[in-house]
Amino acid sequence: MQPIGEVERVVEGVYQLKLPVPFPLKFIASYLVEGRDGWTVIDPGFDYPPAREAWESGAAKVGLDLDCGVERIVVTHLHPDHIGLARWLEERSGAPVWMLEGEIENARHVWDPARGTEGFVRFLIRNGMNAETAKSTAGTTRLGIRLPERLIPLRPGDTFELGDGEVRVVHTPGHSDFHFVLHDERRRFLFAGDHLLLKITPNIGRWTYTAPRPLERYLASLRELQGLGVDLVFPGHGPLFHDLDGRIDELVLHHEERLSVMHSAFDGKPATPFEIARRVFADDLTDHQLRFALAETLAHLEYLVGEDRAERLEGDVVGYRAV
Ligand SMILES: [Zn+2]
Repeated sequence: MQPIGEVERVVEGVYQLKLPVPFPLKFIASYLVEGRDGWTVIDPGFDYPPAREAWESGAAKVGLDLDCGVERIVVTHLHPDHIGLARWLEERSGAPVWMLEGEIENARHVWDPARGTEGFVRFLIRNGMNAETAKSTAGTTRLGIRLPERLIPLRPGDTFELGDGEVRVVHTPGHSDFHFVLHDERRRFLFAGDHLLLKITPNIGRWTYTAPRPLERYLASLRELQGLGVDLVFPGHGPLFHDLDGRIDELVLHHEERLSVMHSAFDGKPATPFEIARRVFADDLTDHQLRFALAETLAHLEYLVGEDRAERLEGDVVGYRAV
C-alpha cells in the first residue's frame, strides 16, 4: 500500500490516490478510473494545499493531464473531505461534477455561505448541550465550501460506463441523506464512498438538515447491498476489502450493540440526548467531536423510539426515556 499523498494502481484501469486530510481520518481515497473518453475521478478530496499538491504529482505520475484529461468528477456525498476539491478540479479540468439529485440540493443548503451557526447552536442546546459548549462546538463548523458551477444530477438506477465496465448508481442513505455507491456487476466492484469502511464505522448522525430516521435508512440500505456478489470494495477511507457481506453483518451488529448500550445508559431515568452522549462516548472528546457524538446519539435514540424501546419527551430541552 502506498503512503499518503501517493497514487497506486489497485486493479486494471483503477488508481487510488491517497489524499491527506487535516483531521484524524488520515486520508481520503480518491479513485481515478481511465476510460475511452477520459478519466473519471471519484471523490476529489478535501481542499487545502497539501491535497492539491498530491493531485498535481499523482495525476502526472499516472499520465492524467488535469487540464484536459478528466471526463467527469463524481462525488458520493456532500462532506468536505469528499466534495471539497470538486470546484477546484472542475475549474482546473473543465469537467462536470455528478452527484445524486437530493445531495445537490442539500449541499447548496449546507454550504451556503450566508448560513450562520445560530440554527445549529439552537439545535445543540435543545438537545441538552449547555450554551457555552454549543457555541464552541458550532464554532468549529466549516462554512461556505465553494460548490462546483456545473452539478449534474444522478438518479438511483442510472448506469454509465466507467473504465472497462459499467456501473449502476445505488442510493445508500445513512451517513448522508443522498449518499450513493457505484456497483459494477460484471467486475464485481463496489465504489463505496463512506457507506462501508473496514476499520471504522461511518458516522450515522441526525443533523439539522438530515431527514428523520437516518439509522433506520442506513441499516436498510446496508441490507439491500447484501448478496450483491461483490468481490472488491473501494472505500473512501482505510483499506480496500473483499468481504462485503461479512462487513455488513459487522456493521449491523455494531449498531445493535450501540442501541443496547444507549438503552441501558438511561438507568431508569429520563435524560437529554447530550447526557446520554456523555455517558456512552469517551470522556476526552474535543468540541469538534462532541457534535458527532451528539448527532450519532440522536440517530440511535430516534431508532429506539421507532422500536418502542424509548420515548421522546418534548420541551424546551428534549428528553428521552427508556421503556
Ligand atoms: Zn463522509
